[in-house]
Amino acid sequence: MSALGEFDLIAAYFTRPVQRAVLGVGDDCALLAPGHGMQMAISSDMLVEGRHFLSTVAPDRLGHKALAVNLSDLAACGARPVAFTLALSMPRVDEAFLAGFSRGLLALADAHGCELVGGDTTQGPLNICITVFGEVPAGQALLRSGARAGDHLYVSGTVGDARLALEAFRGTAALSGDTFERVRLAMEQPQPRVTLGLALRGVASSAIDISDGLLGDLRHVLRRSGVAAVIDADALPRSADLSAQPVALRYECGLAGGDDYELLFTAPASHAARVAQASRETGVPVTRIGRIEQGAGVRVVDHTGAEVPMTFGAFDHFKS
Ligand code: ADP
Ligand code: MG
Repeated sequence: MSALGEFDLIAAYFTRPVQRAVLGVGDDCALLAPGHGMQMAISSDMLVEGRHFLSTVAPDRLGHKALAVNLSDLAACGARPVAFTLALSMPRVDEAFLAGFSRGLLALADAHGCELVGGDTTQGPLNICITVFGEVPAGQALLRSGARAGDHLYVSGTVGDARLALEAFRGTAALSGDTFERVRLAMEQPQPRVTLGLALRGVASSAIDISDGLLGDLRHVLRRSGVAAVIDADALPRSADLSAQPVALRYECGLAGGDDYELLFTAPASHAARVAQASRETGVPVTRIGRIEQGAGVRVVDHTGAEVPMTFGAFDHFKS
């Protein structure tokens, strides 16, 4: 048992000199000065042990992921990260855990110029809640409600590896050691697509990040926009590791696997060249996987155009 108390551990692991903030950790509130003509984009995500992460995850990867899933929400809005708060509940003061956790967390924070300005620390089950604050020029945020019939549908990166890792942990997929380490990295250390989100401002008509599975997250966009979609399941960008799996697992991981943190977005057909340019400029691969139509709901076809029956739904914390 360490002798470190609440305020010592905040000072040791979560306090650093302020950068852009007016006031950081240490007072009753942090103070931020929004840029002229900017709107603040705010999002919270909570990670609960056994629910959002396994107890086997390395502390630095957990620190990374806790912030990554929040930065991914800013990316989906086309907002630039500014600052975040950290509410942390943990069973005991474990300095090896705290050192690794804060290292992974603050490394990703530095990579995106997003500073830790406050939070709360308490004893309890391991639970991490981060709130991020970002900036976007007034009126330019990417929303779920902007998809229109005729738009192209795109996804960044590859989808399905995090779900494949989860299936391996559950014992329902048998993977070689190398494959397992690669897909495990995708699950434990996702890279938020912040630069792509910024490059898609004024280009994409709608966007969402994939946290609960591509189909489920797509349905949020379709409902908010009042449109339908057709997607080609064989056009989904997959890693070589996922491509080597049986077709049913491939479809399930790609279409319904959560935890990908890729951007799913739509853009008018006339913006196709600008989408390609955004991808080139940011070095983030983007793949066209379908189109938006009038109506409601999503239809999934394979490369021959035949309908793929959907037997799986979106991840729902209160149903699975
Ligand atoms: P209060 O009681 O006024 O809410 P606390 O005593 O909980 O403040 O926290 C003291 C200071 O440390 C505050 O500025 C708070 O934002 C900050 N803080 C607490 N926990 C964390 C944490 N995990 N990460 C960063 N800052 C934290
Ligand atoms: Mg407090």
